[in-house]
Amino acid sequence: MLSNLAVRDIETLVHPYTNLATHREVGPLILERGEGVFVYDTAGKGYIEGMAGLWCTSLGYSNEELVEVAAEQMRKLPFTHIFSGRSHDPAIELAEKLKEIAPVPISKIFYGASGSDANDTQVKLVWYMNNALGRPQKKKIISRLKGYHGVTVASASLTGLPANHTDFDLPIAGILHTSCPHHYRFAQPGETELEFSSRLAAELEEMILREGPETVAAFIAEPVMGAGGAVTPPEGYFEKINAVLAKYDVLFIADEVITGFGRTGNMFGTTTYGLKADTLSCAKAITSAYFPLSAVMISEPIYEVLVDQSRKIGTFGHGNTYAGHPVGCAIAVKTLEIYQRDDIVGHVRKVAPKFLQRLEKLAEHPLVGEARGVGLIGGIELVKDKATKAQFEAKKGVAAKSGAFAQDEGLIVRPLGGDRVAFCPPLIINEAEIDEMFDRYERALAKTLDWVK
Ligand code: PLP
Repeated sequence: MLSNLAVRDIETLVHPYTNLATHREVGPLILERGEGVFVYDTAGKGYIEGMAGLWCTSLGYSNEELVEVAAEQMRKLPFTHIFSGRSHDPAIELAEKLKEIAPVPISKIFYGASGSDANDTQVKLVWYMNNALGRPQKKKIISRLKGYHGVTVASASLTGLPANHTDFDLPIAGILHTSCPHHYRFAQPGETELEFSSRLAAELEEMILREGPETVAAFIAEPVMGAGGAVTPPEGYFEKINAVLAKYDVLFIADEVITGFGRTGNMFGTTTYGLKADTLSCAKAITSAYFPLSAVMISEPIYEVLVDQSRKIGTFGHGNTYAGHPVGCAIAVKTLEIYQRDDIVGHVRKVAPKFLQRLEKLAEHPLVGEARGVGLIGGIELVKDKATKAQFEAKKGVAAKSGAFAQDEGLIVRPLGGDRVAFCPPLIINEAEIDEMFDRYERALAKTLDWVK
C-alpha cells in the first residue's frame, strides 16, 4: 500500500533518472532526515547512505557547522550576484582556497551551480579560446564511452551513455567518444592492464590523426569513472593519455565532480592518477552537497584570452544568476576548512584499506565478477558466469534487484548500467560503519543469488 505522500509524489513529480512507468507502480523512497552516514525514511527506518547521496555528501548528513554558516550567511546577505564586477567576501575567499589546493597551477575560478553547467562552461571556454586564438577549426572535444559529464546539451553530449543520447538528438556535432578504459570488461583475453592502456592511448592517437590534430581542441575525463560503473583506470592509462594529448596540443579537462576533495585518498583524483590537467571541473563535495555549487578552475593562458576577448567584445558573455551564490560559497569555504582541519584526506587513507578489503572480498561471491576501487569509491559487476564474464540479460535487472534487497537491509547503494553497483559513502564513515555497510550488502547479495536461481 502506497502512503498518502507516495501517491502525491506519483501525481506530481517527474523524477530524474527514473523509470517513470515503473515508478507509478512502486512509488518513491521518501527520506525525511539524516544523521552522520545514516538517512531515515518517513517510517523511521534507517539506511546507511552507501552512495553519499549522489557521490556528494562527503561530511554526512548532520554537520552543524555547515548548517550554522549557511544560516549566518542567509541572515547577512542571502544573495548577491557577481555579474558586472560585483563581488562578496565568501566568493573571494573560496576562490583563494581553491587556488591554494588545486592540483595543478590555476589562475582563476569560475562558479556555476552544477557539475553539468561546469562542463558546459568548459566546452564553451575551449571554443571561445580557439576562436580568439585564430584557430576556429580547432573545436572538437573527445570524451570517452561510458564517461559521465552531465545533462545539459553540451555536457550530455560529452557523456558517453546511451540513455543520455537516445531520442534527445545528442551528441551534438564535434563531440567524439573514444574507448572506455574498463579493463575487466573491455580488455582482450590475456591483455595486461598496461597493454590495454597502450592500446587505448594508441586508439586515441589514431582518432586525433584521423580527425586532424588541428581540429581537436580538448579531451575530458573523470579520474575514476562514476556513473559509467565506478571504474578505476587501468595501470599506466593516464600517463599514456597525457603523452598523446601533449603531442597534439590537446587540452586536458579533468572532471573532478566526483573525485574532487578527498574521495580517492588525495585532495584530487588528478594527483592520485597523475593527470596533466589544464583545467578542472568541481562540484558536489565542494559544499558536501549542502548547496548547489560548481567551480571551473581556469589556467592563466585561458584567463588571458578571456581578458583579451573582453577588451575586444566589451564583456565576457557567460555566467548564470546563481554563479558564486554567497550562501553556497560560505558553505564551501567552511567545508574546505573542515576538510583541512579534520584532515579528511588522512581519514580517507586510514579507513580506505578496510573499505577496499571488504569491497574486494565481495569478489568471492558467485555473482561478483569484479570488485575494485580506490580511496572510498568502488564498483562491482554482477555476472551470470564468472569464468566467461557472461552478463545477465539487461532487462532482468540483477544489479537493480540487489539494490532493492540492500534497501530492505537498510543500505543505499547505486545500481548502474551493465549490472554494476557503486559504493561511495560519506568520507566521514568509520571502520565499524564500513563493516556494517558491507555486511548489509552481503545479505542483499545472498538474497539476489536466491532470486536469480
Ligand atoms: N561530472 C561527473 C563526473 C558527475 O558524476 C556528474 C554527476 O553525477 C556530473 C558531472 C554532473 O553534475 P550535476 O549532476 O551536478 O549536473
